[in-house]
Amino acid sequence: MPEERLDKVVASICRVSRSDARKIIRSGRVRVLGSIVTDIGFKTDTANTVAVDGTEQGYSKFVYIMLNKPAGIISASNDKSRKTVVDIVSGSYRRNALFPVGRLDKDTTGLLIITDDGDFGHRVISPKSMIEKEYTAVVDKPLTDGDIEKLRCGVTLADGTKCRPAKVYTVSDDRRTVGIVLTEGKYHEIKRMLGTVGAGVNELKRIRIGNILLDDSLDIGMYRELTTNELSDMWKLLKIMP
Ligand code: URA
Repeated sequence: MPEERLDKVVASICRVSRSDARKIIRSGRVRVLGSIVTDIGFKTDTANTVAVDGTEQGYSKFVYIMLNKPAGIISASNDKSRKTVVDIVSGSYRRNALFPVGRLDKDTTGLLIITDDGDFGHRVISPKSMIEKEYTAVVDKPLTDGDIEKLRCGVTLADGTKCRPAKVYTVSDDRRTVGIVLTEGKYHEIKRMLGTVGAGVNELKRIRIGNILLDDSLDIGMYRELTTNELSDMWKLLKIMP
C-alpha cells in the first residue's frame, strides 16, 4: 500500500482540515501501530492501523471529484450507448465505483460532484439535509417582480407537486438571467418551476452545492478532487463531526 503523510491520513479519517489534523497529532491523540506519533510529517503505510483518541480508524479510500459538466452528457455511472459523466473521469479513477451525486439534465452544465462514498452522496442530495444547490438560468422572457415573488413563495407544479420556497434573484438587467437556490432536487425542478410563470429555460448551469462553489478555473469538461477544506466544511454542513 502507498505511504501518506500522517496529517493527510488524520484529516481524511477525522474529516477535518489539514491544520486541524496537525493540532490533533501534536496533542498526542494519534497512535500508529499502537505507538503515539506527534510528528505531523511522519509517513505511514495507508494499510497501517491509525487510532485517534484510542479508536482505530480506516484511511478513507473514497474520492470526491468536482466536474464542470458539459452539455450533452448524461448524469449516470454507465450507459450502454451514451457517454456519461463518470466516463469523463474514469480514466483517472478506474478502480472506484463512482457515481454522480444527484443528477443534472443532459443539457444542464456546471457543478457535479462524483464520488464512490455512498453515505456522503445520499446525505448531500437528501432534502432533509437542506443543502443548498444554486443555479443560473437563462430564460426566454423577462421575469417580472410578480414571477419572482411567486417562485420565492414555493410554486405548485402542473402535476400538483409542491416546491419548497426558493431564493430567486435577477442576474442581468434584462431580467432574463436569474439565480435560483433550491434545498431539494425534484425531477426537472427548475425548468418546471419556471414553466409555472410561463418562462422556458434556454440555459441552465449549477454554480454551487452547499459551501462548494464551481471552480471557475475549471474549463467545461474538466475536473479536480475536492480540497480537504471543501470536504470538511461540507461534512460540517451535513452535521457529521468527527
Ligand atoms: N432543475 C432542472 O430542471 N434541471 C437540472 O438539471 C437541475 C435542476
